[in-house]
Amino acid sequence: TSFGFKTVPIEEKQGLVNRVFDTVASRYDLMNDAMSGGLHRLWKDAMVSWLGAPRRPKRPYRVIDVAGGTGDIAFRIARGIEVNGTVMVCDINPEMLLVGAKRDARRLRPRTPCHFVAANAEALPMPSGTADAYTIAFGIRNVARREVALAEAYRVLKRGGRFMCLEFSHVDVPAMEKIYDVYSFNVIPAMGRVLAGDAEPYRYLVESIRTFPNSGRFAAEIERAGFSEVKVRMLSGGVAAIHSGYKI
Ligand code: SAM
Repeated sequence: TSFGFKTVPIEEKQGLVNRVFDTVASRYDLMNDAMSGGLHRLWKDAMVSWLGAPRRPKRPYRVIDVAGGTGDIAFRIARGIEVNGTVMVCDINPEMLLVGAKRDARRLRPRTPCHFVAANAEALPMPSGTADAYTIAFGIRNVARREVALAEAYRVLKRGGRFMCLEFSHVDVPAMEKIYDVYSFNVIPAMGRVLAGDAEPYRYLVESIRTFPNSGRFAAEIERAGFSEVKVRMLSGGVAAIHSGYKI
């Protein structure tokens, strides 16, 4: 198979992205651990702890986790809120949501509900000004029109609401570059072939990381969408980054 990403026009990108996640959904969680050596867990913990959702909010605290897939971010946030919290997981791919919903059913004594909803990041099923926090982890890179998704994030947030994005970035430690190149161009597709039975989705993964803007340019895009106090934290030498901003 070939997902043929290199030259696709923007209207076709989403269809190809959807095929990638249809292919990997049932193996997605396993592949994340295998390919990141478990690091994705630490990066996700870092984003959720920087968000610092209130443990016992006085009023309802609503989180929307976009491109939430199998629920990794949603469950982490939900675990930290004891009362008055809700998390809505939006993802365009029903296969990914199904894996998430099954995991949700296995949560022990959940105090904060997580709802799984099929939706495009470019058109969220949420009224304007209603979310306390918008999170997106390893998702914005897949969206066809990033500026539209950022405008949607801004729209659904309340004044004072928090935007947080975890995404791959660009390695900024020269000694790491060579290793990172070999790892991403050779090791990742090979692991895809062995563990998931197909290297193509993982070639897409690597390619989409390369074409994503660096942290400075992405921070500027977030500001252009209207967000204030935009800050960045680099993770693991720039392999990933967290961007944070507020709607004020
Ligand atoms: N956030 C999860 C995590 O960190 O484990 C899942 C990330 S996964 C790499 C990317 C997800 O983005 C997939 O579940 C995919 O279906 C979803 N996605 C891709 N394009 C999307 C879009 N336009 N709107 C919403 N979700 C999208």
